[in-house]
Amino acid sequence: MDDDIGRDDTGSGDTAPADAGATPEWRLETRAVRAGRTFGGPSLAPVLFPSTTYEVPAIDDHLEMASTPRVTHYYSRFGSPTARDFEEAVAALEGAEAALAFASGMAAVTTTVLGLCSTGDHVVAQRHTFSATSSFFGAHCPRLGIDVTFVDGTDAQQFVDAVRHGRTQLVFVETPANPALTLTDIEAVAAIPGPFTVVDSTFATPVVQQPLALGADLVLHAATKGIAGHNDALLGVIAGSRDLIDAVWGWHLMHGAQASPFDAWNGLRGIRTLAARVHQQSATAQRLAEHLSGHPGVDVVNYPGLDSHPQRDLAKRQMASGGTVMSIEVAGGAEAAKRFCGACRVARIAISLGGPETLLSHAATIAALMSPGERADLGITDGLVRISVGLEHPDDLIADVDQALGAASG
Ligand SMILES: *Cc1c(COP(=O)(O)O)cnc(C)c1O
Repeated sequence: MDDDIGRDDTGSGDTAPADAGATPEWRLETRAVRAGRTFGGPSLAPVLFPSTTYEVPAIDDHLEMASTPRVTHYYSRFGSPTARDFEEAVAALEGAEAALAFASGMAAVTTTVLGLCSTGDHVVAQRHTFSATSSFFGAHCPRLGIDVTFVDGTDAQQFVDAVRHGRTQLVFVETPANPALTLTDIEAVAAIPGPFTVVDSTFATPVVQQPLALGADLVLHAATKGIAGHNDALLGVIAGSRDLIDAVWGWHLMHGAQASPFDAWNGLRGIRTLAARVHQQSATAQRLAEHLSGHPGVDVVNYPGLDSHPQRDLAKRQMASGGTVMSIEVAGGAEAAKRFCGACRVARIAISLGGPETLLSHAATIAALMSPGERADLGITDGLVRISVGLEHPDDLIADVDQALGAASG
């Protein structure tokens, strides 16, 4: 098969991916099927190890085991064979030396930041990020004496200007980002000398975007979403150099942020079909976005795969497709947007994204406790509906969305 994801996705960074069944020369699709097989023996399906504790071979081995990052057969807060298989599969997909799994995407965000930053340090974060991430940077980091400067993610120069030499420890990027699918230029931000660059690449998955190959130090995913992909695992993960992963692991151990073996096992099962799912979902999203552009019931379609996207050139440079998520501005404001969501029969109303079902969320309803000014600052307009495109037949989905837009305007 030709490399139809349009780009060298072999992770051309200078770090060799962990070899746990996958070869770095293989394309991502092949690595997704083969990687993460260290602990399953000849079993083709991933093997689940629910044990919280393991027999120590000899009493004198205790100390060495307890101080080995991500040790697999000791006590599962330190690491577990199932989490390790999942981590090695993610590392293979991202072209990383190592990865670290977490109990959730937010555990990955907070543990990474607190593992790398101390009181007195400075962080530059883009303003538009996942809601809990922005609360963490806006409300909790300052409480801990970590100073955060927020910048417009679409303007790489603002990151450059905000970095304070000798004080900025970390730059936090999320791309594509809620709510308008805006993009941050990963290569430009990662080139800033000094701080570590962390990229939340959840909306893209490793199939659509490879932040490490663009120079980022760590890539982060709410694997709850597209990577696990079936709405049955709460899971986070970061990938990067072994040194950085081991450094974050120290704090991960203190936080007890370890992924449960069951969720890691579901995540690894999800990885086997990740490429096929994301290719299909992206193709459907592209068709739906094109269909809705110029539709009388829709004022705006925000989707990186459209030529009308304000950062279309950047999308072409750093993404292999427009991805699986879009947002639309339903004509007629909040009431019309709610009627639209309520009238859909194929697409369902739920938060989260990246699963088999097309999911709708009305941002202004979820953010109802914010003031209108706060919502406006975050780009949350009254008619905005996020659509996470699933695996239904595109014709069924488009017909459903059409009838629901008719109902919304009626
Ligand atoms: C969902 C999400 C998170 C948080 O993940 P959880 O697993 O819900 O903790 C972080 N970043 C992005 C972009 C997300 O969509």
